Amino acid sequence: MLYRELGKTGEKVSILGLGTMRLPVIDGDNEKIDVEKAEEILKYGIDNGINYVDTAYPYHGNSLDKGGMSEIVVGNFLEKGYRDKVLLATKLPTWLVSKKEDFEYYLNEQLKRLKTDYFDIYLVHDVNKTVWPMLVDLGLFEYLDKIKEDGKVKYIGFSFHDDLDLFLEVMDSYDWDVVQTQMNYLDTAYESGLTGLQYVSSLNIGNIVMEPLRGGSLVNNISPDIEDLWNSSEVKRSPAEWAFRYLYDMEEVDIVLSGMTTLEQLKENLDIAERGTVNSLSKKDHKLIEEVTLALKSKKMNGCTECGYCMPCPEGVDIPTCLKEYNRAMMFVDANAVDVSRYYYDVDENSNASKCNECKTCIPLCTQQLNIPEELKKVKKVFGR
Ligand code: SF4
Ligand code: SF4
Repeated sequence: MLYRELGKTGEKVSILGLGTMRLPVIDGDNEKIDVEKAEEILKYGIDNGINYVDTAYPYHGNSLDKGGMSEIVVGNFLEKGYRDKVLLATKLPTWLVSKKEDFEYYLNEQLKRLKTDYFDIYLVHDVNKTVWPMLVDLGLFEYLDKIKEDGKVKYIGFSFHDDLDLFLEVMDSYDWDVVQTQMNYLDTAYESGLTGLQYVSSLNIGNIVMEPLRGGSLVNNISPDIEDLWNSSEVKRSPAEWAFRYLYDMEEVDIVLSGMTTLEQLKENLDIAERGTVNSLSKKDHKLIEEVTLALKSKKMNGCTECGYCMPCPEGVDIPTCLKEYNRAMMFVDANAVDVSRYYYDVDENSNASKCNECKTCIPLCTQQLNIPEELKKVKKVFGR
C-alpha cells in the first residue's frame, strides 16, 4: 500500500480508502448488510494497509429520515481491535438538521452507533445550495469549532454536491482540514471538478476523492467501442485500473474512496493501489483516457450516480434503477443495449418510470440536481413503458 499526506492534517493515509456505502447485502435489501462478508472486506482491507474508513449516517438505510446500517456494522467491527488502526470518517446528516440542537444530537448518536469517543474526520455531508445557508444561520462554524475543542472530532471537512461557485464560497468560509469531492476521468468539469480539486490542494487542505468509478458505470458493461479503445493501449490495464490510476497520477489527490462490495473487488483495488504513484502515467496514457472520455461523452447520459438519495419514491418508482438502465442502454453497451437493459428494467414493473406522477418530491433530494421526472420521461420513451 502507498500512503500520502492528508494535507495539513499531516496524517499519512492509504491512497485507497474503504467506503462503506456499498457493502454486501442479503436478498438485495440495502438495510440487510451481510455482516460476515462485510467484516471480511473490512478486515482484509485494513490488514492489507488501508487505514481510512468512510461511512455516513444514511448509508445502507432505506429512508433518509433515520440512520442506516453502515455506521452500526462498521462500529461493531472496529470495536474488535481495529479502531486504532484506522482514521474513521463519518458525516453530519445535514438534511435532518432544522435547529441548533440537532447538530449535537446527531454527533452524539453517531458516536454511539460507531462505538467510539471521537471521529478522526467529521464531514458536513452533501453541502448544496439548499442546506448551506440554513446551516450557517444555525451556527455551524461555532459548532464545528466547539466539537474540535472538545476532542469529539479531530479534523473537520465537508462533502460536496453542487456547482463551482458555491464550492468556492464554502471553501473560503471556514478553516477546513479536509474536503471530499466527486472526481473521475469523466467528471473533470462536473460540480467542483478539477478546478475545485486544485484549489483545495493549493490551500494544503486534505483532498479526498469519491466516486472514482462513477458508481461502477466506468467498469460495468462497458460498450465494445470503449473496450476496443482500452485494448488499443500497449500497456494492458483493466477499466478499473485506468480509472484509479488517472486519479492516483494527480499529486493533488490524497486519497481515493471506493465502496467495495466483494472481496474480489477489494483485492483488485489493493493491487492497483500498489502502482498508484504520482505522475506514473505516460503522455500516451493520458491521450487514451481523453479519447475514452470523449467517446463516452458523445453518448447520451443523465448523470445519475446511483447514490439512492432520492429514494424512496412515494409511487414506488425505483429511480436509480430506471436511470441506470437508461444510461447503460444509451452509453455503455452495444446495439442490443435497449433490449438487455429493458430486461433488468422490467424485473419489477411496479417500479418503472411509467409509475411516476411528477409529484417532484425527489427533485430536491437528488445529489446531482437532476430533474428526475423529466429524466424518467426519457426512460419511458426508450423502454416503451
Ligand atoms: S416525481 Fe416521480 S419519481 Fe419523483 S418522487 Fe414523484 S413520483 Fe416518484
Ligand atoms: S437520481 Fe439523483 S439522488 Fe437519485 S440515485 Fe440518481 S443521482 Fe442519486
